[in-house]
This record gives sequence, C-alpha cells and structure tokens, in this order.
Amino acid sequence: MLVRTENLQKFFNIGRNQTLHAVDGISLDIDDNEIMGLVGESGSGKSTFGKTLLGLHDRTGGTAYYNKELLPALFTAQDHLKYSRELQMIFQDPYSSLNPRMTVLDIVGEGLQIHGQHTRQQVKDEVADWLVKVGLNADHMSRYPHEFSGGQRQRIGIARAMIIQPKFVVCDEPISALDVSVQAQVINLLNSLKRSMGLTLLFIAHDLSMVRYVSDRMSVMYLGSLVETGPSDDVFFNPQHPYTQLLIESNPEPDPEVERKRSHIPIKGEITSPVNVQAGCRFADRCPKALSQCRSETPVATEVSEQHSVACHLFS
Ligand code: SF4
Repeated sequence: MLVRTENLQKFFNIGRNQTLHAVDGISLDIDDNEIMGLVGESGSGKSTFGKTLLGLHDRTGGTAYYNKELLPALFTAQDHLKYSRELQMIFQDPYSSLNPRMTVLDIVGEGLQIHGQHTRQQVKDEVADWLVKVGLNADHMSRYPHEFSGGQRQRIGIARAMIIQPKFVVCDEPISALDVSVQAQVINLLNSLKRSMGLTLLFIAHDLSMVRYVSDRMSVMYLGSLVETGPSDDVFFNPQHPYTQLLIESNPEPDPEVERKRSHIPIKGEITSPVNVQAGCRFADRCPKALSQCRSETPVATEVSEQHSVACHLFS
C-alpha cells in the first residue's frame, strides 16, 4: 500500500461558531500502482480530501501516510518541496490552474527548476520531451496558456505534474471542464502514463461510469464521508449502499435508445449542509430505506464481500 489515511478530517471555521465538516473521518488505503476512483456529487468533499492529502489544506484531524511515512498535518514550505517530488496534483480547471503570464516552458519546467538539479538547457529538453509525450508540439513551449484549447491546457497541466516523475498523483476532476470529444483522449493519456511510469492515481470525478472505466477500485463519498468502497465493477454493478444505488440509477445510459426507455428514480432533496453536522447517517434525510436508528447512530464501514465495504445500518 502506497497511501493510507485514517480518520482524516478537514474542517473549516466559517465564523459565527459554525464549522464546515468538508472531510469527516476518511479511512482509505490506496495500493501501489492502483487507480483509486473517488466519486460523489458536488459538495461531497472529494477535492478537499485530495488537497488535504497532499498538504494543500492543513489537516484538522486523523493521519495520512505516504510510503509508510506519516505526512505532516501542516505542510511547511520545506515539506512541500520534499513531497512534491513524489506527490503531484492535476487540477480540475485547465483555464485557471495555469498562470496566464508564464510561458508553457516555465509552467511545465517549474518543478525541475524548483528542485534545482537541471540546467536551463536540460529543463528545455525535458519540457520538449514531455510536450511530445502528452501530444503537444514541442515548438509551442514559448507560447502562453491562452493560445491553447481547454484540452491542450489540460495536457500542459498533466505534463507539469508528470515531469517530476511522481509516484502518486491526485487527478481532481481532470476532464469535467473539457468537451466530451476531448475527455476520452485525456483519459487514455492518463492511462498510458500510469502504465509506462508505474503511477498510483487517485481519480476524482462525479461521473460514475467514467470512474468505473478508469479505476481499479472506487469509493463513493457523501457529505465528507465514504459510504461504499470496493472493486469498481463490483460497486458499479452490485451497489449496496442506498446512496450508491440511487447515484447509479440516476446515471444516464450511453445508448440514447436504452436511456429513453429507462425509468429514473431521482435522488430526492439536496445534499444536506455540511455545517455543524449532527450524529447519525448523513444520508438519512434523503434515504428511502432509513431506519429509526439512522438519525441518531453514525453507521460504520462493514465488509459485505471481499474488499467491498459499506457504511450503512442495513448491514451492521
Ligand atoms: Fe439509509 Fe440508514 Fe443506511 Fe443511512 S444508514 S443509508 S439512512 S439505511
């Protein structure tokens, strides 16, 4: 196992004695050379989990390990420098995640320059190499981000993360801002880099079918907590948690003919507020199978089959 979190928490104080529980007690193991998918609606805390894991947010509680080494709760500049060699992130928005005043050479080569082990010419050669690897033209390294399309910018973001040769990469909704026609290209690129570099990825997205396609295992997140974790096909084709079942039920079929004939059961209500969360199951207000104990007792993860666990009172 390469990455482990135990009861990881990230709370935000939002004033007036109110606390936003963005991530509340996530325990997750990610194996070496695995793609772990993390799926859930907007506002479930997926991105905050990824950023907290990489030290971009301070950790409120719990622990996080990389390669059996305890990661600091509060990263110093030195920690960022040290861990950025091995831990990288690809951001959701290819429009805002690239500095518009920097050339592609400086954006992609920044990591190498920070670590100071390359001459300017070596940085240039490496950047040229990586632009080609991600399907861009090496001659374009003197251009600025606004001269590229969304898909090309995401490729620049991927080259920036990969040039350091990291071991673990958090891909935070890397395709959600892209046209459907470009999404498959970026996914195929990530998959081929994962294979050639022996990478371990945390792939965050809200599209269940995409997460199933990309990931070896997946975890479903709801309001700061994991509700179901298992092998991707198992979770997708045999969902056990009522929230996962409804998410899959509301996932559109790729075949328009099948989709037209299908009856949808929408998830009722909005995702509950993560502010000053009370005890009990967080999905209780929206759950069609809620029991009396669901509003007072917080369910814990229980193994329902090999490697497949569910946090729900129906299984405890
Ligand atoms: Fe529904 Fe209760 Fe299970 Fe929560 S614990 S998902 S409310 S049955």
